[in-house]
Order: sequence, then structure tokens, then C-alpha cells
Amino acid sequence: MKQFDKINLGLFPTPMYRLNNISELLGTNVWIKRDDMNGIALGGNKVRKLQYLLADAKNKGYDLVATTGGAQSNHAMLTAACCNKLGMEPILVLKKRGVTECKGNLILNKLMGTDVRFIDTDSYDYITGAVMDEVEKEKGRPLYRIPCGGSNAIGSLGYLDCIKEIAETGEKFDYIVTACGSGGTTAGTALGAKLYMPGTKVISPMVDEDDFDTIVHRLMEQVIDELELDIDIPEVDLFPMWGPGYAIPSEEGNEAISMLMKNEGIVIDTCYTGKAFAGLIKRAREGFFKPEDKVLFIHTGGAGGLFSQDWEHMSL
Ligand SMILES: *Cc1c(COP(=O)(O)O)cnc(C)c1O
Repeated sequence: MKQFDKINLGLFPTPMYRLNNISELLGTNVWIKRDDMNGIALGGNKVRKLQYLLADAKNKGYDLVATTGGAQSNHAMLTAACCNKLGMEPILVLKKRGVTECKGNLILNKLMGTDVRFIDTDSYDYITGAVMDEVEKEKGRPLYRIPCGGSNAIGSLGYLDCIKEIAETGEKFDYIVTACGSGGTTAGTALGAKLYMPGTKVISPMVDEDDFDTIVHRLMEQVIDELELDIDIPEVDLFPMWGPGYAIPSEEGNEAISMLMKNEGIVIDTCYTGKAFAGLIKRAREGFFKPEDKVLFIHTGGAGGLFSQDWEHMSL
């Protein structure tokens, strides 16, 4: 397998353990991989992606990095935090979508003194194209552009790493469950499972309405190309859990958030992990898992986004 450079940015391996109370409640063995505890800001999956993306940027001679996302993007906030640690300059170009208040991740961006620009558009292509062309011109030096969610082939390598890390513990799982928001984590997890934990199936509740069958498939093809692997593209169980829409709290998601907080003292979020864990609960209640199955939930972070919510939106 071809090797890619990576910069160590977080605390790895992250903890992994059985959720005894939740396992009792759901009638199967539920474990958690705490990628929210990886030591940068409030943690989260984007750190593993950025370890590869920022190594790529440095290797190619860039010190100016831009990325994009929604106003509460965990990925954007973590890109700023990781760039700062490495002495690189981050610029966040975020979708405005009517946001006026400074809450959640936007507070963290302010505390870091991050250059945040809001654009009134719904098109990420417009942002990473025309808008970032302007930023590059303004700065007068080359700009390394990271797509929304860090979900390209290089970013996805971070989750091959995560699955390797899980495999190295010797624990075996029947299922791994992780949120699908821009596709890179799902793609990396599914390929990682294929390589390092054959037989483990990947379940990825979708928290946004994009065509993830196509997006995740294409990302997996790109990673296979980059790494010069000779493997078939694995199947992924993708199903809708976005509820009323991307980043809008759902009733099932809020139930999942309460359940984890109340029974295990673990904080998950309204946009990603709450809806993903709700997908796990849904499957458990459908009788999809056997009592002896081992199901691993990857906690991909997101606490910053949780604290951008008003209580009225949480108690639907
Ligand atoms: C970005 C994100 C995800 C989804 O990962 P993708 O690779 O974008 O699909 C899941 N959880 C949290 C907390 C995130 O910030």
C-alpha cells in the first residue's frame, strides 16, 4: 500500500470501551470509540483527516489554508485550531444562511482570532472556486483549499487509520456505526474495515440529504486509486436519519442525546452524532442486532455545535 505523510496533531489511540447501561437498554453489546477525546479543541473526526490534509499542504509548500462549511462547522473550527498549532494561517469561508448570533463553534473561532468570512450562498463549489480565488488574490500567496468536511481522498485516509487503531486492540466487532455528513469518514471507515477488520459491517446513518451512495462510492474509488490498492468497493448500510433536515434537531436525535447523557455521561450533538446514535437505536429496536453482537459507535465529536442550540429547539 502506498504511504502518505501525516502530522501528529491529537492524542491517539483514543479510548474505546463498552457502554454497559446502553447495552442493557438496547439488548446488544454497544461499544464506543471516543474520537471526541482526541485532545484538540472539543475533539472530533476532523482531526484525523487534518493530520493527512495539513501534512499534504506542508509538503507542497503551503502555509495558507482555507476551508468551508456551515456556520457551526466543527471541521472549520478544527481546521483553524490545527493550523494554529502548526503555525499555518487558516481562513474559514462559511455559509451565512441567516446566522447572526455568535454561539457554539463561532465562539471558539473568535477566541482563536480566526479570519472567518460569511458568504450568502448555498453553493460550496462557488465558495471553493470563485470566493477562494479572491482570497488567494487578496493574500498574494498560494492557498491550500480543503473541501467541506475535509472529505476528499486524502482526508478519508484518517478513518483508515482509525479502523487500524481499533483492529490493533484485538477487539472484534460485528458492526461499526458512524455518522455520514460529507462522506469521508464513512468512506475511510468502510475501506478500513475491509482492510483491517474483514467481516465487520459499516452502518452509516445519513444526517444530510445528499446522494451519499454515489458520493461515498466515488470517495472509496479515489482512495483505492491513491493507495494503489487491489480491493473491491465494500457495501455500506446508508439510511436517512436527517429528520427535518441537515443541522436541524430531530426528535429521535434528541432522544439519543438524552439517553447517552443520562446513562453514560457522554455528550453527543444535534447535527451529527445524536442523529447517528438515533440510527443505532432505531436498528436495535427493529431487532436488527442479535444479543451477542458487538456494535461499535464512533463518537465523531460535535459538542461545539450542541452549544449553538437554544433549549426550545432541543425540547421538541
Ligand atoms: C463532520 C462530522 C461528521 C461527519 O463526517 P463526514 O466525514 O463529514 O461524513 C460526524 N460527526 C461530527 C461531529 C462532524 O463534525
